[in-house]
Amino acid sequence: MTKVFNEPSFRDGVNLMVDRAMAVMGLDDGVAKAIKSCNATLQVQFPVKIRGKIEVFTGWRATHSTHRLPSKGGIRYAPYANQDEVEALAALMTYKCAIVDVPFGGSKGGLLIDPSQYSRDEMELITRRFTLELIRKGFLSPSTNVPAPDIGTGQREMSWMADTYKHLHPDDINYIACVTGKPVHHGGIQGRVEATGRGVQYALREFFRHSDDVKNANMAGSLDGKTCVIQGLGNVGYHAAKFLSEEDGVIITAVIEYNGALINDEGIDIEQLKQHVDEHGGIQTYPCAEFVEEGNAVLEKECDILLPAALESQITMENADRINTKLIVEAANGPVTFGADEILRKKGIVIIPDAYANAGGVTVSYFEWIRNISHIRLGRMQRRHDAMRGEEMSRVLEEATGRAMSEKIRNNISRGADELDLVRSGLDDTMRLAYQEIRVTRDNHENISDLRTAMYVTSIEKISRSYIEVGVF
Ligand code: GLU
Repeated sequence: MTKVFNEPSFRDGVNLMVDRAMAVMGLDDGVAKAIKSCNATLQVQFPVKIRGKIEVFTGWRATHSTHRLPSKGGIRYAPYANQDEVEALAALMTYKCAIVDVPFGGSKGGLLIDPSQYSRDEMELITRRFTLELIRKGFLSPSTNVPAPDIGTGQREMSWMADTYKHLHPDDINYIACVTGKPVHHGGIQGRVEATGRGVQYALREFFRHSDDVKNANMAGSLDGKTCVIQGLGNVGYHAAKFLSEEDGVIITAVIEYNGALINDEGIDIEQLKQHVDEHGGIQTYPCAEFVEEGNAVLEKECDILLPAALESQITMENADRINTKLIVEAANGPVTFGADEILRKKGIVIIPDAYANAGGVTVSYFEWIRNISHIRLGRMQRRHDAMRGEEMSRVLEEATGRAMSEKIRNNISRGADELDLVRSGLDDTMRLAYQEIRVTRDNHENISDLRTAMYVTSIEKISRSYIEVGVF
């Protein structure tokens, strides 16, 4: 018999997790309320003429917090977009920005649309029209609210949005900072596309640097040779799986997509699979793994690391008990429901929580925004200077030792950091520091044993400081 569980909505689930953390902290009720409440949600309905007929589209932009400005977060295009989801995701952005010390408030947007049903030109028209609505209502500008890509949107949509803003505000010198995740030749930053996947990799690497945490998850050693099941081969899942398998020796034993899953215990070559998907439109015919139609059942496959990188509410009270992994890294937002989180904790499964694990995207968005408002590419002033110092250092070392360096070592020492090097270094540092802060919180509170509660407590402590110090009016 199928059990039916009445689980809270995504937004209520996030709030319940936050309540759990606030209870541990003993936070003042007023401050707690101020932090949890969603500042404003805009719903727009706008007509667009498509193939001679008028269609009306519905979109949302929720600003969860404005204690830091601009408020930041992606815009999602999906046939299931709704206000509850947008508000839950906006709240997660508040906690996400705080945990990685990105000085922004939290926001999120959604447009109810199935992008596959429209041509490129139609998508441009719809996006520009939606952007116009957001700008007119004060929900998009470089200083107050800055969107970014999310599910169903990417560099293309961000370019259209930036261009629409520029036309409405030709006198705003910072117009290009009104969205992030733009193409590099249009004000974007190197490394933004893969940033969330890279961040997931850096989060896992940091986790595996702490042998007590690894032991806690009933594992030992490094990432090398660990088995991993991933759900979702979109931007985040693809990059995380690619980097982990190609650079850290992780074996991807299954890839779950919305219409089935691939299994190969020897490991799936992610780059080869991605090429296959691009050519054939799906995973079904990929020859080097077994295809199974019941994709979501594969979430229950035994593995060391389960990496959900698709949608929210994938591990629920219905399947949580059958999950057979040691560590879950939440590359998606909200893949584990509040009820499932409880069950998984009792089973001893460790969870690296979403607001930390997938914060790489917004972190690099922050770097992009800084690049935009400072009007200069990162590293432009120092690169040559650093390279010259490196060359000098190599010469001194060779003279002192009387030995010539290999070409490789000389190049490594004398190479000045370019934008991508700086982005990676900033992201790596951010992910390491945030994890260390979460660990300290967990270890200092006797009532906290999980990383999610520790993450929320760390994040809420930072946010509440700004409410308490600056006050509310
Ligand atoms: N959509 C991404 C997220 O959920 C990125 C947000 C951003 O870069 O502002 O974190």
